[in-house]
Amino acid sequence: MTTPDIGGATGGGADVTVGVLALQGDVREHLAALTAAGAEARPVRRPEELAEADGLVIPGGESTTISKLATAFGLLEPLRERVRSGMPAYGSCAGMIMLADKILDPRAGQETIGGIDMIVRRNAFGRQNESFEAAVEVAGVEGGPVEGVFIRAPWVESTGAEVEELAVVDGRAVAVRQGRLLATAFHPELTGDHRVHRLFVDMVRASVM
Ligand code: GLN
Repeated sequence: MTTPDIGGATGGGADVTVGVLALQGDVREHLAALTAAGAEARPVRRPEELAEADGLVIPGGESTTISKLATAFGLLEPLRERVRSGMPAYGSCAGMIMLADKILDPRAGQETIGGIDMIVRRNAFGRQNESFEAAVEVAGVEGGPVEGVFIRAPWVESTGAEVEELAVVDGRAVAVRQGRLLATAFHPELTGDHRVHRLFVDMVRASVM
């Protein structure tokens, strides 16, 4: 499942600071992937840390837990505010759910940050297929398909007119972009292939220029 990284950071000091929401989930893997993609990567647990980030990754994990902890840590409203005011954000898996305006089957009290005009279905690929890997062509990612690692992954049920579908598996959108917001149902942070993170770091760079 390791794909060699193609190209690399241009060297020198990192020019953008990208936070990883560090309440629950695979935070370390995203920090490592962002560093490899040329960003200054930092965990975000407090509103002051969020304020210092040029962009934010919301990791894979458990969206209900991330939602509850974001509320408990006083981060939900600051997160919504930053996303509304144009901060780039990238969510993988549970993070995709957090960026959805609507969840088809939320748990009681489950909140999202929102921002992407889409409806997602949690744990959508079904019991037979809880975890699987697939080669996924992602629009905007050069150099061949990425290894898509899907773990109790959501899919995108429907999208609004502003949302670009970047990748499709089994007829379902599994990667989307709306403006400065990016989401994948799969976990590039687990593969050693940093092309999706580089795409996001480039989006962050473009937003601070
Ligand atoms: N099924 C999880 C959720 O609803 C997401 C799983 C993942 O992030 N690997 O949050």
